[in-house]
Amino acid sequence: MDCIFCKIVKGEAPAWRVYEDDRTLVILDKYPASRGHLLVITKEHYTNIMDAPLEVAAHAFAVATRFGKVWGELGAPGVNIVTNAGRTAGQVVFHLHVHVIPRWPEGQFRWHGTREITEEEARWVVSQLSKALGHA
Ligand SMILES: [Zn+2]
Repeated sequence: MDCIFCKIVKGEAPAWRVYEDDRTLVILDKYPASRGHLLVITKEHYTNIMDAPLEVAAHAFAVATRFGKVWGELGAPGVNIVTNAGRTAGQVVFHLHVHVIPRWPEGQFRWHGTREITEEEARWVVSQLSKALGHA
């Protein structure tokens, strides 16, 4: 099976990793919709939230909510926490993931980012989150 998120979980493909526990991994979206866009991906492969056991889905949303709160503490006045299930719903990678998209008053926002994240932006996000998680 050729699943990019399974490869990232196994360390066989690169990603900016910010957090992991026994069931989830949090990475930076490669094509961010906003500054700080994160993906909570499950370590087990499920096609999407419709395919996953309820406790797996609930845990992924718990982790996403935690990071939404972190962005709130870091000054984001709003956040979108969403998951897309199925091509018609806009799902692009068919491995369960929950988006955490902080919203900034003056920031650019596009649901489907077209610009690849820069190393400078990624380092900024990782440093902000590691500082905030250090206090948590
Ligand atoms: Zn997968």
